[in-house]
Amino acid sequence: MTVRVRIAPSPTGNLHIGTARTAVFNWLFARHHGGTFILRIEDTDIERSRPEYTENILSGLRWLGLDWDEGPFFQTQRLDHYQKAIQTLLDNGSAYYCYVTSEELDEMREKQKARNQAPRYDNRHRNLTPEQKAAFEAEGRKPVVRFKIEDGREIVWQDQVRGKMVWKGSDLGGDMVIARTPDNGGEGFGQPLYNLAVVVDDIDMTITQVIRGEDHIANTAKQILLYEALGATIPEFAHTPLILNKEGKKLSKRDGVTSIDDFKAMGFVPEALANYMTLLGWTPPDSTQEIFTLAQAAESFSLERVNKAGAKFDWDKLDWLNSQYLHHLPASELVERLIPYWQGAGYQVDLESDRPWLEQLAALIGPSLTRLADAEKESRLIFTETIEFQADAIQQLQQPSAKDVLSSILAVIDTVETLTEETAKEQINQITKSLGVKKGVVMKSLRAGLMGALQGPDLMQSWVLLNQKGWDKTRLNQALTL
Ligand code: GLU
Repeated sequence: MTVRVRIAPSPTGNLHIGTARTAVFNWLFARHHGGTFILRIEDTDIERSRPEYTENILSGLRWLGLDWDEGPFFQTQRLDHYQKAIQTLLDNGSAYYCYVTSEELDEMREKQKARNQAPRYDNRHRNLTPEQKAAFEAEGRKPVVRFKIEDGREIVWQDQVRGKMVWKGSDLGGDMVIARTPDNGGEGFGQPLYNLAVVVDDIDMTITQVIRGEDHIANTAKQILLYEALGATIPEFAHTPLILNKEGKKLSKRDGVTSIDDFKAMGFVPEALANYMTLLGWTPPDSTQEIFTLAQAAESFSLERVNKAGAKFDWDKLDWLNSQYLHHLPASELVERLIPYWQGAGYQVDLESDRPWLEQLAALIGPSLTRLADAEKESRLIFTETIEFQADAIQQLQQPSAKDVLSSILAVIDTVETLTEETAKEQINQITKSLGVKKGVVMKSLRAGLMGALQGPDLMQSWVLLNQKGWDKTRLNQALTL
């Protein structure tokens, strides 16, 4: 049987790291087996779903390199399928209309709480007589549809990650609602709920493996009962571990970042983030191998090597991976990725005329980047014509020979046609000789005068870049007036 898996995000927020990681595992599984990866947007929660979230999810998946083979399918366009299934369940006696009001439900829960019982629906409308139904209807009550869950049932499945799973029907909260009350003025039943819609979709799309987060385990137990009642083949299930923060709690908004956009804004490249996500809960057969593309990971991916224990999110490791990717990018590509960050920092970037200059700048700062966003700090001293001099630079410029050094360098700038790293070095050597000072003094003075700081990127390369803009002259003259 050919593998068919899916990712089924709800568009109630931006693409979440947990959803993205589940997408990665599904994608790897599909690609490993030459199967099909399907994208389904679960937008039945009309109040909370937004088209901009759908957009964000689609573009986030694309950005990570997770291409899908079918879809996106939208649940709101498949309502007739759910209605048919709900009708089937009503007809075959596995579902029924329930007229309990929310006040009655509240009262039920209060009583359960007082008795220290877990909240559950007590199945009180399971066997209403036609007269009782008619009476409720006459009162103007609108029913939901509930699916019967027998307390005595034991639901068993062989989880592809967690092994044999056993759930008791009595732990599932009583008969579950599968359709809301009909819309205003409507008859019959209203919008389908999550568990029903998922099962109908997974049946229609002939999903072979449902790979999703372990927060869905209880849903799986309920869904297996729905498959049975609909007479459908039950797929395999694999529940992937949650992503945890340092404290071992589920990674959440409180940890600062959760959406893929946040990671993008912080300057992680998609290759590194996707690579890191494969390691969030999966161990490659060669566990010493940590850097790979999604396609490479797909070659050896299997659910057996997905861990049961929660996956700790390790920022240091993600940073390390990101720096590895950044340091190996050719400058011509790195520059493309840095431009948005330079623009975001408000630096003047002329994409047409500055392109070669920006590429050299990318080559200059590349080795010191951990995240793309570091480019703001790492290139701050390069991007302006004039600068502010820091105290230690001013102090350096007050050393006896500093001003002579700067004057000599200014003279060089006027004579040299094109300054390269080579010619710059030669000129420094000559100035050192003719002034009879130590080379360290020349370099330190040049750095102070050119950058206004004693720390910064490679000095010769920085000088070459500033020289191309004519800013070296401006800055050195500025330094001479201090
Ligand atoms: N819409 C569900 C979610 O976003 C999908 C669950 C599933 O994969 O069945 O969590």
